[in-house]
Amino acid sequence: MLSCNKIIHKLKTEHNANGEELLALLQCEDVKIAEALRQAAQEQAQATFGKNVFLRGLIEFSNFCKNDCLYCGIRRSNKNASRYRLTPQEILECCTTGYALGLRTFVLQGGEDFAYDDKRLAEVVAEIKRQYPDCAVTLSAGERKPEIYREWFEAGADRYLLRHETANAEHYAKLHPSELQLTARLECLQNLKEIGYQVGTGFMVGSPYQTLENLVEDLLFIKNFNPHMVGIGPFIPHKDTPFGKEAVGSAKLTLKLVSILRLLLPQANLPATTALNTLLPNGHQQGILAGANVIMPNLSPQNVRDKYTLYDNKKHSGSEAAEGIALLRQQLAEIGYEIAISRGDYPGVIK
Ligand code: SAM
Repeated sequence: MLSCNKIIHKLKTEHNANGEELLALLQCEDVKIAEALRQAAQEQAQATFGKNVFLRGLIEFSNFCKNDCLYCGIRRSNKNASRYRLTPQEILECCTTGYALGLRTFVLQGGEDFAYDDKRLAEVVAEIKRQYPDCAVTLSAGERKPEIYREWFEAGADRYLLRHETANAEHYAKLHPSELQLTARLECLQNLKEIGYQVGTGFMVGSPYQTLENLVEDLLFIKNFNPHMVGIGPFIPHKDTPFGKEAVGSAKLTLKLVSILRLLLPQANLPATTALNTLLPNGHQQGILAGANVIMPNLSPQNVRDKYTLYDNKKHSGSEAAEGIALLRQQLAEIGYEIAISRGDYPGVIK
C-alpha cells in the first residue's frame, strides 16, 4: 500500500505525483493525513504569497447564454431564469465602486451572450483600462474564436477564466449537450495561453457521474497544462436544470483538492470560491487555510445579483459581497491573513 505521508512529502518537495499516488490520497479517509496535507499546502501558499489574500471584483455582466450545460442555472433551456444584461455604463459604474473599495482586478463573467460580441466587449475592456490603468481585467465569457480572444487581449484584457469542467471526454459528454466538446474547450485554453493571457481553468467537485478517477485526470491535466489560476468549487444543483435533484458536491473533498492543487502548482492563483462559501459558513477562511490565496467578492449591481443563479441559494451577501469587504477583512484577520490592495498577478513566468 502507498504511504500517504510519503505522497505528501513528494508533493511538497517535487510538486508532483502520479495518478496512482493522487488516487491514494483522494481515497484516504485518515484525518491526520488530511491535516498534514492541509498544513503542507498552507505552508506552500505562505511561502509564495505570505499572508496576503488577493481580491477580484466579480461583475456578472450577462446571464443570457446560448449554451445548455446540464448543470447550469443560466442554461438557455431554463425558461424560469430572469434574463439581464448590464450596459457598458453599468459595468463601468461597478468598477468605480470596486476601485473605491480597494479592488485592483475586475472579472467580467457572463454566459455566452452574443449581444456582447467581440467589438462591444473590447470597447468595455479598453475603457476600463483607460480609466483604471493600474487594474487588471479578467474575462470569463466562454468559448470564442482565437481572433476574438486576440481582439480582447489587444484591447487590454490581462487574464481569462475558462474551466475545463472535466478532463474526461465521456464525463464531459454526460454534463453537456453534444454540440459542446471537450476538445473544443481544451483548444480554447491552448489558444488563450498562446495569445498571452494569464489563464485560469478548473472544475466542479462532485458533478454528476464524477468518479475519483476523473478527479485524478483533472489534476494530471492541470499539472500538465500549468495554468496561472485554478478555480474549483463544489457542484450545487439548480432546481430548474436536469441535475436539479442530484447530490451536492463535498466541501471537504473540495478543500482537499485545493490543497493538492496548491502543492502541484505552488505559484498558481487559487480562489476560495463562492460555491465553497455557499456550502460552508466559513468557506473563505477554510479555503485560505487549505492553500487558496484569492477571494472574488461580488461586485455586480444589487438588483441583478439574484438573477445570476448558477445554482440554488448562491451566496452574494455578507463577506461574499464587495460592500462586505470590512467583514471579510475581519474574518481573514481572525486567521492571521490580510487583504492586499494589488492586482495580484501570477508571481512567475509561464511559457
Ligand atoms: N460562460 C462562461 C464559461 O462557460 O466559462 C462563464 C460562466 S459559467 C456559468 C462559470 C462556471 O460556473 C462554470 O465554469 C461552472 O463550472 C460553474 N457552474 C455552473 N453551474 C454550476 C453549478 N450548478 N454548481 C457549481 N458550479 C457551477
